[in-house]
Amino acid sequence: MARFYRFAVSSALLLQSLACASPEPCLNGLCQFTRNKLASRTVASELGPQLSANCNIYGPDDTEFGSCTARYDPFFTPKIQMVVQPASEEDVPKIVQYATANNIPFLAMARRHGMTSTLSEFDGMQIDMSLLDKIEIQPDGKSVVLGGGVFAKNIMEKLWNAGYVTSSGSTSCVGLLGPALGGGRGRLEGFYGVVSDSFLKLNVVLANGTAITVSETEHPDLFWAMKGAGHNFGVVTSLEMKIYPRGVDTWYYKTYIWTQDKLEAVFQASNDFHNDGNHGGHHLQEMAFNMGSYTIIPDISETEGVIFWSFVYRGSKEEAQPYLDAFDAIEAVSSEEGNVPYPEIPGVSGTGMNSALCDYGLNHVHYPAGLKVWNVTTQRQIYDLYNEKIRQYPEFQRTTVNMEDYSHEGVDAIDPDTSAYPWRDRGLLSFIAVTYDPNPSLDAAAIAWAQETRDLWNAGAPDLLPSTYVNYAHGDESVESMYGYEPWRLEKLRGLKAQYDPDNLFSYYNPIIPNQNPRSTAEENFSKGRSIGARSRGRGQ
Ligand SMILES: Cc1cc2nc3c(=O)[nH]c(=O)nc-3n(C[C@H](O)[C@H](O)[C@H](O)COP(=O)(O)OP(=O)(O)OC[C@H]3O[C@@H](n4cnc5c(N)ncnc54)[C@H](O)[C@@H]3O)c2cc1C
Repeated sequence: MARFYRFAVSSALLLQSLACASPEPCLNGLCQFTRNKLASRTVASELGPQLSANCNIYGPDDTEFGSCTARYDPFFTPKIQMVVQPASEEDVPKIVQYATANNIPFLAMARRHGMTSTLSEFDGMQIDMSLLDKIEIQPDGKSVVLGGGVFAKNIMEKLWNAGYVTSSGSTSCVGLLGPALGGGRGRLEGFYGVVSDSFLKLNVVLANGTAITVSETEHPDLFWAMKGAGHNFGVVTSLEMKIYPRGVDTWYYKTYIWTQDKLEAVFQASNDFHNDGNHGGHHLQEMAFNMGSYTIIPDISETEGVIFWSFVYRGSKEEAQPYLDAFDAIEAVSSEEGNVPYPEIPGVSGTGMNSALCDYGLNHVHYPAGLKVWNVTTQRQIYDLYNEKIRQYPEFQRTTVNMEDYSHEGVDAIDPDTSAYPWRDRGLLSFIAVTYDPNPSLDAAAIAWAQETRDLWNAGAPDLLPSTYVNYAHGDESVESMYGYEPWRLEKLRGLKAQYDPDNLFSYYNPIIPNQNPRSTAEENFSKGRSIGARSRGRGQ
C-alpha cells in the first residue's frame, strides 16, 4: 500500500507539471510509431492504472530513480528513461505489451551488475524486477520457486536455514537470473552443474507480451535456449529450481597471500591440483572452488601485486588437507582458515556483500578467457604487465586479474548438447577487471590493458578456440566465442529468435542478432532491430 501511495503521489506531482513540460499528445495505441520518447509521467498515467497496487513507475525527476538505476559498473551504462517496478508476475505482460505498442525499448534488470558493452546501446524502460523476490520451498523438499528478481545472498541464506542448497553465482550481491540465463558459474557446480542445470521450469514473458511456461515438456527448444542464451528470449517472472539437502554444517576455507616470486610454484601446484584440466576422479566435488587474483595490497606494496588465493571445501579441514599440502608448502606472506556455514563462505573468500567486489560505482573494464590449464609462462607475462600498468597508472591500483577454478564433475556429467551453455570443457575461467573511479581520460588505456591481458591468455592456449563466458563478455567478442563454434548451436538459436522474438527486442545483452547501430537513438535501434528480425525470418533462421 505504501508503494501505491508513492506512485499515486509521484503521478499527481508529475501530472501537475505536465503543463510546463511537453507532453506527447497521443492517445494510447493511436500513434505507436512515434511514441518511444514518452515522458515517464505519461507512462505513469497510462500504464500505471493497468498495474497492481504496489507497482512503481519512476522518472528521472523522482528521488527513487537514482537508487533504482545505480549501476555496479558505470563504464557501460544503459540509458534509462524510466523505471517500472512490477509488483506481481501478472504486471509483466502488461508492461511488455505497453512498451511494445509504444515502441519503447525495455530491459529487465535485477541487481544491475550486467557489465557488457552491448548494454550501452539500450535507451528505454528499465523493468526493475527487484520486487519479485519470493523464495518458496516446495512441500516435497525437492524444488524452490523463485521470483525473477531474487539474488544470491537471499537464496543461499533462506535455503540453508531450511536445510537445503541450490546453485547460484558465487557472489552474494549478484542476481540469480543474470548469471543463470548465461549458464551461471558457482561453488556448487562440481555437484549440480552450472546454475541453469538445476532449472525445472521458467515462467517467461515473450516479446509479444504473452506469458508462457517453458520446461522439458513445454516449449522444450526454448527451455534449451534459456539455459545459456536466455537473455535473448524473454523476461523471466519466476522459475522453479531443484534444491538439494544442504549436507555438512560447515565448509572449510583457506586463503593465502603469496609474493610474486612464488608465482611459478603456485600455478604449477594449481595445474597438478586439477590434473592439467582432466578433473575426472582427481579434482573432487568437495574441493568446490578456488579462485586467485593478482591484486595490490597497499600494506605490502603499492606498486607490486601479490597473489591472493582462496580455496573452499565442502567438509572439514582434515578432509581438505591432502589437496592443500602442495599449497601449504609454498611459503606465504600470510594465510587464514576456518569453518563456516555455506552462506558465510562468500564473506570469507572475498565475494560477500561487504567485500570490495560488491562495491557499486567503479569502472571495471574487463575481458575474459576460458582455459583448461594455466600456462605458467603466460601467467608470468600477465603478472609483469600488471605491475608495469600499475606503475604507469596509479589510478588503476584497484585492478584485479582473476583466475577461477571450479570443481567440474557436475558440469561434465551433463550432455553438452542439452543446453545452450557451450563451454563445459573449460574448467578455468579468467578475467581482468581494470578498476578505477570513472574518468574518461583513462578509458582508452584501461581497454588496451584489458585486451592485451585477454590476448595473452588466448595466445598461451594455442590449441583452444577463444571462448567467452557470456556473463563475463566485454561485448565485442564474436557470437561464436560466446554461444559456441559448432554451427548447429547458432542456427538453432537464430531459428528460435525468429520464432520467439522476431523483432529482436531482446538484443541488449550480448545479442545473438546484434543491434547494429551502437549508441544510436532508441528509435534507430528499435527499427534496426525490427529489420534484423525481419531479415532473419526471411532467411528462415
Ligand atoms: C561482482 C560480480 C560478481 C559476479 N560473480 C559471478 C558468479 O559468481 N557467477 C557468474 O556466473 N557470474 C558472475 N558475475 C557475472 C554476472 O553473471 C553478470 O554480471 C550478470 O549479468 C549480473 O546479473 P544481475 O542481475 O546482477 O545484473 P542485471 O544488470 O540486473 O541483469 C543482467 C541482465 O540479465 C538479464 N536479466 C536479469 N534479470 C532478468 C529476468 N528476470 N528476466 C530476464 N532477463 C533478466 C537482462 O538481460 C539484464 O540485462 C559477476 C559479476 C559481477 C559484477
